[in-house]
Amino acid sequence: MSDLIQLLPDSIANQIAAGEVVQRPASALKELLENAVDAGATRIQVVVKEAGKQLIQVIDNGKGMTPTDARMAFERHATSKIRSSEDLFSIRTFGFRGEALASIAAVAQVELKTRRTDDELGTLIQIEGSEVRNQEPVATGPGTSVSMKNLFYNVPARRNFLKSNPVEMRHIVEEFQRVALAYSEISFTLMQNDMEIFQLHGGKLSQRIVGLFGKNYQSQLVPCEELTPHVNVKGYIGKPESAKKTRGEQFFFVNNRFIKSSYLNHAVSNAFEGLIQPDQHPFYVLFLEIDPSHIDINVHPTKTEIKFDDERTVYAVVRAAVKQALGAHHVVPALDFSIDVNFKDKWDQDPNTKIAVDREYSYKTFNTPELKKANPSGWEKLFEGVQRTVEIDKSSNDEEETEILTFPSRANTESESKLLGSSESLENTGTTFQVENNYIVAQMSTGLLIVDQQAAHERILYERYLRQLKLAQGPSQQSLFPPVVELSPGDFELVSGLMPELHSLGFMISVFGNQAVVIQGVPADIQVRNEKELFEGLIEQFKNFKNELSLETRENLARSLARRSSLKRGQKLKDQEMETLVGQLFACQNPNYGLSGNKTFVKLDLSSIHSFFGK
Ligand code: ADP
Ligand code: MG
Repeated sequence: MSDLIQLLPDSIANQIAAGEVVQRPASALKELLENAVDAGATRIQVVVKEAGKQLIQVIDNGKGMTPTDARMAFERHATSKIRSSEDLFSIRTFGFRGEALASIAAVAQVELKTRRTDDELGTLIQIEGSEVRNQEPVATGPGTSVSMKNLFYNVPARRNFLKSNPVEMRHIVEEFQRVALAYSEISFTLMQNDMEIFQLHGGKLSQRIVGLFGKNYQSQLVPCEELTPHVNVKGYIGKPESAKKTRGEQFFFVNNRFIKSSYLNHAVSNAFEGLIQPDQHPFYVLFLEIDPSHIDINVHPTKTEIKFDDERTVYAVVRAAVKQALGAHHVVPALDFSIDVNFKDKWDQDPNTKIAVDREYSYKTFNTPELKKANPSGWEKLFEGVQRTVEIDKSSNDEEETEILTFPSRANTESESKLLGSSESLENTGTTFQVENNYIVAQMSTGLLIVDQQAAHERILYERYLRQLKLAQGPSQQSLFPPVVELSPGDFELVSGLMPELHSLGFMISVFGNQAVVIQGVPADIQVRNEKELFEGLIEQFKNFKNELSLETRENLARSLARRSSLKRGQKLKDQEMETLVGQLFACQNPNYGLSGNKTFVKLDLSSIHSFFGK
């Protein structure tokens, strides 16, 4: 019997391997764009016909190839980018497997024109189904042009599997956007069926974002930067109000390579927690820089997935970077992006927009209480002066006990004026009043401030509780008649697990018998008539948020307690209470938004008021 095993002919082996690299027109475009970038191009033009099914052409002004290299480029594993297996760990260029051109040439009709600047003549190579049809000298501009025609012309089954033109075009635009974002200094154009879709001049990242996603983004970008010894994060996030219901404009790059990471996406969402609705997705374009030896980019053939050797640190840095940017965001509302989209340099921010990057810490110190202790922000100082008294508010309809907080001295003027713009400050002119027992209206030197009392109070309490949880030192008030709360087995389990956090918040709780707890004390700042109700409500709220939002435990507890204990719409407030509330709001780290991403206040500038009257 004769032997059965044969080596596959190269053309078939190439076709099979091509399946990995070229799944659709967009994946070929990605490879061609990356080659152009690797070649040092400063201008890259893309021409697409029939969503790439008929033609994808990438023209660059990069370094070009010699005739021999041009021929070699189509050989499998031919690459100029690595020489040994060690190099694999220090890859900075895009391509490195030397597979792309060979794969593309196996499943399409390819025409390559290339010339190095110093050569007189260039090279033309025509190749289809891995077979070189023609190679000759040609007069051509410096750089390289690769045309890929009739993708899968020789693999009808795969051609039939291509999606409709709109779908394939969407993939093409996606790939184009990713590369264009990563290289804002390179000029790009994208033509489809002779229509120009993008014309992007080389420039700053902010310009590139606006060029790709539209003018609306000009006023929505917040710079984001966090530098640590392990990883640097730089880029832009969208303001919370620009978040969208559909996921989409979210980009992570690691060492300038686009990656998908639901883990890191979670870090960003987590940082936006409380600022946007749970079903909204924030915009972001974030670049991580990390020593290539700490990552493995080769876990997936199309290379959009990545492994970090220290995922948790990367997560923490990303989250901190975004939180930081959001926190600083209320400090810079006066920053007018429309004046100049190109802040300065790609990363070089205007001193006014600089976000506490000069804060000194190493990446290990994220979220540690020490950090806060060492740097008490304005609002922490504010609380030092707050006295608490309780009295019955006779004027309120339901005769509910109302907390009176005496307004401390102007300890918070600084944070107010940061928020309101340097020239204005919150002037207490004695003209603070309530509308519908729902909104607080306060006069400022530059207009009117309208505050949603419940949203504002929730924000204040949330930040306070979060801080208490971090410092584990929430003050407690003793229950006069400690109630026993019977719990379901599930709730008992939950509460047992939350004991340390509940104690940090100021709950004094101990297990009582089989499935009950006794509440000996509750947080000092909460007006309680019924400790049991407060506690049960808190657990209920905690479970709700947990289902809805999958929050981190502490965030959830802080939110839940804030929601349960905040003052409500319809509650009448005294002058002093209104002032205190407004003062405390602007001492918050994130005063602009309530817990559901709703606004806490709006400003009505004098100029707008004038304009109502045509002045
Ligand atoms: P890789 O990019 O992984 O090295 P490719 O198959 O994409 O593999 O390309 C093979 C080689 O061809 C590259 O290493 C490079 O030397 C050369 N090459 C490809 N495209 C270009 C281009 N646009 N300009 C200059 N050289 C190129
Ligand atoms: Mg390549």
